[in-house]
Amino acid sequence: MTAITDLVIVGGGPAGCAAAVMAASVGVRSVLIEPDALCAKLQHIAAINNVVGGRASGPELAAAIAEDVARAELCEVDLGARVTEVRAYDDHVTVTMDTGRTISGSYAVVATGVGPVPVSVAPWLTVAAGTDPPTLWGAKVPGEVVGSLLVVGADRPLGTFLRAHPALGATVLVAYPPEDDYKVDEVRGDARVTLLPVARLSVSEDGGSALTVEWVDREDQPGSWTVDTVYMNLGSAPVPPPGALIRDTSGYCPPDRQHPRVITAGDLRSARFQRIMAATGSGSQAALRAYYGLRGVQSAKHGGSPY
Ligand SMILES: Cc1cc2nc3c(=O)[nH]c(=O)nc-3n(C[C@H](O)[C@H](O)[C@H](O)COP(=O)(O)OP(=O)(O)OC[C@H]3O[C@@H](n4cnc5c(N)ncnc54)[C@H](O)[C@@H]3O)c2cc1C
Repeated sequence: MTAITDLVIVGGGPAGCAAAVMAASVGVRSVLIEPDALCAKLQHIAAINNVVGGRASGPELAAAIAEDVARAELCEVDLGARVTEVRAYDDHVTVTMDTGRTISGSYAVVATGVGPVPVSVAPWLTVAAGTDPPTLWGAKVPGEVVGSLLVVGADRPLGTFLRAHPALGATVLVAYPPEDDYKVDEVRGDARVTLLPVARLSVSEDGGSALTVEWVDREDQPGSWTVDTVYMNLGSAPVPPPGALIRDTSGYCPPDRQHPRVITAGDLRSARFQRIMAATGSGSQAALRAYYGLRGVQSAKHGGSPY
């Protein structure tokens, strides 16, 4: 089925939701597409200290944003659908979903954010189970974490995780590649942590419920250990939908590189501004850019392009 709207918003995180609310406030109709719940990532942020407006936790903020979107009557929310293709033409865009629905609109705001770096892009790492282990930032304690656990990679959520769980009794083996060397100082003093700078690492099932970890360290020395749980912590990478999105050399999709009818917002733009307030600001700005385009207002007459 083909629908026609002013603005198709791909991704219902803070950036996409802000775009929907801002669009409605200036009379722009939109369809917002999100495979999960609105602002699902915020459910994993226990405490927030950099968002104005008095919301101190991620779940609180997610609930408030979802209420704002529900009040935006000009926005249709399509939950449970993933966008599989974005196409851009001179006078419209088309957005196709895995449900078979295709929407055409005048503009698209694409705000699909970042996802975990997959095992497949780490040549030094082998995980036998077939699917990527869960991310550390999504880990739930104490239910999932018992005995000893392996954290693969030393990205920033490691320090946050350890501070958030002072009572965690598990031994935490942190195996990390050379590019994460500069990140481990933050956790070096934690008695629960064993740091393991590796050259190669493999994780396999041992036939029972435990997992066998085997490695070769930077001095070419082999070693092994048994752990109960593995979490990935290699950082994140942009996840644009297939089609019209243009990536830079780092894989991100800066707004100024895109087709004039495709406006990127939030974490998808760059590795440097990955914060909630930056995402909502850029989502709002993206909706206003569509609004001015729909009204035929030239940016040069109004202070130029914000990008
Ligand atoms: C553990 C953790 C703690 C953090 N703590 C803070 C903090 O304290 N303060 C702070 O400012 N920031 C924090 N952040 C960063 C913050 O969460 C992000 O900057 C923010 O969520 C980015 O918003 P976004 O809308 O760009 O992307 P996201 O929130 O990632 O939303 C993108 C949405 O797009 C959807 N999507 C993806 N692909 C598709 C597709 N093909 N079709 C349709 N939809 C799709 C996803 O399901 C997702 O809901 C934290 C992040 C993490 C992981």
